Amino acid sequence: MPEAALIDGKVFAEALRARVGAAAAAFAQWAGRRPGLAVVLVGEDPASQVYVGAKGKACEAAGIASFEHRLPADTSEAALLSLIERLNQDEAVDGILVQMPLPQGLDEQAIIAAINPDKDVDGFHVINAGRLSVGQAGFIPCTPLGCMMLLKDRLGDLSGLDAVVIGRSNIVGKPMAQLLVDANATVTIAHSRTKNLADIVRRADIVIAAVGRPEMIRADWIKPGATVIDVGINRLPPEPGKERGRLVGDVAFAEAREVAGAITPVPGGVGPMTIAVLLRNTLVAAHGHAGLPAPEGL
Ligand code: NAD
Repeated sequence: MPEAALIDGKVFAEALRARVGAAAAAFAQWAGRRPGLAVVLVGEDPASQVYVGAKGKACEAAGIASFEHRLPADTSEAALLSLIERLNQDEAVDGILVQMPLPQGLDEQAIIAAINPDKDVDGFHVINAGRLSVGQAGFIPCTPLGCMMLLKDRLGDLSGLDAVVIGRSNIVGKPMAQLLVDANATVTIAHSRTKNLADIVRRADIVIAAVGRPEMIRADWIKPGATVIDVGINRLPPEPGKERGRLVGDVAFAEAREVAGAITPVPGGVGPMTIAVLLRNTLVAAHGHAGLPAPEGL
């Protein structure tokens, strides 16, 4: 069997960012202002600082105004809620993103609930989860929406295909399963208590791995020709003499590539899609706030 095709998320994400950039420029000309994204970071978590910095840069590159709010780790819940209320009212802000995880003592659910659902470009608010669940237009979490774009680009119509989603988190697994059902796939959600996981994965035409366990999914779990989307980002312990370990996904990539029909690499697969979809969601929010229909082709 030939080696699986690589699903290049980096290339797809770059093209999406270019389309968002063109539409953001058209919006700015029409509205007299750029679409705006407010990113709130509480505390000094190093990974979160990197993510927030990357989001700010990506916004500016796409012609989206970025408003960064960096708050100390001992910020009170009342102070954070009052900032969110200000951002809810701010007409220059179309999207609000609070970087997770929050420091201990801050109630993540209460903070997400305070965001105006029409500015919730992460799609984490229960109103947006509900909209997705009943098929109404709303914001869909960026990572699963990015996975869906890659799948549709690769496979076209997903009707009747068997899909297995491994992982049931609110930000990846559950919305991913919902999107697949909406695309007429037959969906199984597997998780930490699932029995005979390998047998279940072996039935799937589409495998979505969102677990957070390095290289857990082996080649002999995969149906020949299946499409494999690896959401996992795991850092291995460093090899001797190296400062940092390698990044790997939840799928044993090299061996799975011998069996699958198409597969996303880690890094360079799903990862780049997440920020590109965040920009896309912010642009859609800006159109909504201006009373315009969402731009097509995004
Ligand atoms: P999570 O920890 O919230 O959820 C993990 C899920 O895996 C849980 O639902 C759990 O039931 C399941 N699980 C755990 N052990 C299992 C096992 N042995 N067998 C089957 N299922 C098992 O994680 P998450 O936030 O959904 O993220 C999952 C992975 O995706 C992580 O590696 C994370 O870093 C990565 N991630 C990547 C992006 C991206 O942009 N590419 C975005 C979000 C998350």
